[in-house]
Amino acid sequence: TNDSQQQLHIAALAFPFGTHAAPLLTLLRLLATSLPPTTILSFLSTEKSNTQIFTNKVDPSGTIKAYNVWDGIPEEAVEGQVSRGNAQAGAEFFLKAVPGNFKKAMGEAETESGVKISCILSDAFLWFSGDLAAEMGVPWVAFWTAGSCALSVHMYTDEIRNTLGMPGVAETVKQTLTFIPGMSAVHIDDLPEGVHSGNLESAIAQMLHKMGLNLPRATAVVVNSFEELDPIITNELKLKLRKALHVGPSTLSLPPLSNSDENGCLLWLEKQKPSSVAYISFGSMMTPPPKEMLALAQTLESLKVPFLWSLRDHSRHLLPEGFVESTESLGKVVSWAPQSQVLAHPSVGVFVSHCGWNSILESVAGGVPMICRPFFGDQTLNSRMVQDVWRIGIRVEGGAFTRSGTLSALELVLSREEGKEMRESICRLKESAVEAVGPSGSSAANFETLVEMISVMFVG
Ligand code: UDP
Repeated sequence: TNDSQQQLHIAALAFPFGTHAAPLLTLLRLLATSLPPTTILSFLSTEKSNTQIFTNKVDPSGTIKAYNVWDGIPEEAVEGQVSRGNAQAGAEFFLKAVPGNFKKAMGEAETESGVKISCILSDAFLWFSGDLAAEMGVPWVAFWTAGSCALSVHMYTDEIRNTLGMPGVAETVKQTLTFIPGMSAVHIDDLPEGVHSGNLESAIAQMLHKMGLNLPRATAVVVNSFEELDPIITNELKLKLRKALHVGPSTLSLPPLSNSDENGCLLWLEKQKPSSVAYISFGSMMTPPPKEMLALAQTLESLKVPFLWSLRDHSRHLLPEGFVESTESLGKVVSWAPQSQVLAHPSVGVFVSHCGWNSILESVAGGVPMICRPFFGDQTLNSRMVQDVWRIGIRVEGGAFTRSGTLSALELVLSREEGKEMRESICRLKESAVEAVGPSGSSAANFETLVEMISVMFVG
């Protein structure tokens, strides 16, 4: 037999926006530790995304090879059309270039390694991976980088549209998703835009709809969460999918290596009192509007809450004039923080967050209650779960920072009995997350299953 046919070759296909590619790379690094050392591991994303996430530290042994796929941006596109933070425009260009751009890069990976791809591991968003895998006669393993709740919404999109009718037809705003197992706390207005309201024909909405229809074909759907967080939803997903494998939180199994602390956040936290600091971050893409930035900054200063604020340099001008100087002894504004380590630090008492999925998992891993200011996508849905299901945080009043709403949220979480209860709840979740990835935990067992599926299927 031909040796190369015995050798495994995993092609990981990334969605290159938001914090999607990094968790896929983490999963691939985890797989690398469990698969035969001869396995070829190819990671396919855009040049921009690969440059951001690949550092020498991420893959010191160099076992994972990155390939660039075309971002779909035509040469003649004006700079401003795909401006920073406008992930939507970027995603629209990108989605016009799929699947051809991935096919080309997979061809390069096969030529360079001399080994045929034996498994496609893709971001679940990339619904067409099922067709690519079928053409190549290999399995499709889809990776869902967010929570079970959001996955459930996309699996049920047609039922949601049929059951609730189209927006504007009825007084639907107060309706909850009682007809989806485990989702009865979710209000219709918590849903990501494009599921039931907003532009159902947008590139992203269509991508997510097709994803929901295609995922039942996948050999397995790997989820960066743990079963115990949403037992009912998890059971439902197990019924709907050929194999639902919750293997997270992946940062607990494999801490990110690339998080250096250039801004001295951890040293600064050392000097603060236990559970006293507000850590503020809205993920890789979002900055609140100027009015809200002002309200948040003024409230921190007037309440004298020690704070660590991760704020990109291009948004610094949104802080009140002289704020950084006048709060020098109170807080610290940095352009990037080693977030998972920050949240694991005992000085942090509350996380003011946009409720991106990675941020939620890191807050759970750190046992830090949250104040939620969601913006788009699954963030509002996640914040509903945080507040009303897991009871590990609170949504800011009216969905936006005002002085009074921010003040009451900070006081509640940092000083009141309710805050203490949230901290206890999130510490319990933390324990179950740690247990899940531990030796006899559910995530560890699911990971084993994944490794077996990928390794045995192709031999011979
Ligand atoms: N992050 C970080 N330092 C920062 C801000 C963010 O390390 O100063 C990381 C954070 O730990 C998380 C990711 O960026 O892993 C944000 O992911 P999330 O899913 O929460 O939000 P997104 O970026 O997709 O909006």
